[in-house]
Amino acid sequence: MELLVPLVILVVLIAIVCYFWKCTRAPSERASGDTSLEQSDHTKLEPGPSTRVIPADDSGVSPSVDVARHQPRAAQKPPARRSRYQGGGRVSPSEVFSKNYVSYTRLKLYHQCPRRFELVYLAGRDDPVGKPAELGSVVHKMLEMCIARTGPAWDGSIRIQTAKEIIAHFEGALASVRPRHSIARAEVFPYCQNFITLNRAPLHVVETERTLEGMIGSRRFKCVIDRIDRTQANGLVLVDYKTGRPEYADERQLNMYAYALCTEQPRPVRLQFQFLKTGQTKEWGFTPSLQQSTADWVESSVKQIESATSFAQRRGPLCRYCGVSRFCD
Ligand code: SF4
Repeated sequence: MELLVPLVILVVLIAIVCYFWKCTRAPSERASGDTSLEQSDHTKLEPGPSTRVIPADDSGVSPSVDVARHQPRAAQKPPARRSRYQGGGRVSPSEVFSKNYVSYTRLKLYHQCPRRFELVYLAGRDDPVGKPAELGSVVHKMLEMCIARTGPAWDGSIRIQTAKEIIAHFEGALASVRPRHSIARAEVFPYCQNFITLNRAPLHVVETERTLEGMIGSRRFKCVIDRIDRTQANGLVLVDYKTGRPEYADERQLNMYAYALCTEQPRPVRLQFQFLKTGQTKEWGFTPSLQQSTADWVESSVKQIESATSFAQRRGPLCRYCGVSRFCD
């Protein structure tokens, strides 16, 4: 009985000490858990160079694996810049082709005017197309609809014999393209007539408006091919309609398309521009040396962009059609 009272006091004291020890420790544990969550989310939302999300088809490593592997380092110190580019765009030059695919349009835009490329693809400025491009879209849509509606005859060929058959799809094309500029039937009719002149022979169409994704060298590439025809020798003809002036057509565009297509299914390929403004054509064969020079051009253009530290203005006649001119200075 003499020992019972001190024993009870000792137990009570131990209980009080344990209670206070738990109370002081719990907040710091909660804080620690929250911080790790914040860092994890932050790393996912704003991947810097050291946490870059590498597409699986670029590296063979899935995005989630790549991010997870780098999270601890990202939490310890800010990622180092890999480019000396100081333009302040949303995307850096070193990231533009790892986040997005390569396309002929993008490379062409860079070579036409580096500053416009920077404003559109790095700063994310909207670059609305002008009337000539919208008219071209309406013509392309009319031809696509006309070929689909006409369909193949008993021998598999497609015969479109008059411009009226094409212009019949004018309203439908307008509804699909929804141009910002006013475009009249009379403006597109000459393009329909030239299509008839250039396509008098029965067409052996394999596909129209084919979206193709492939690789050129180590780069992901994407394009839309206006029309693919089959030749009697089981080869293919890639047709691209041009509604602009022939001198603006660049053979490297179709060479890139052929490269991606031949990677998918190697076979003889011929390439053809149909100039619907003038009624002319330009055709050539896709050869192994063209294949090599195409890959070299793509690779050198991409490297030039990725390593660029500034993007110079290139003033010229194309400034009149530039949709980002108000941001240019
Ligand atoms: S206005 Fe001319 S120089 Fe400026 S971004 Fe456009 S094309 Fe380039």
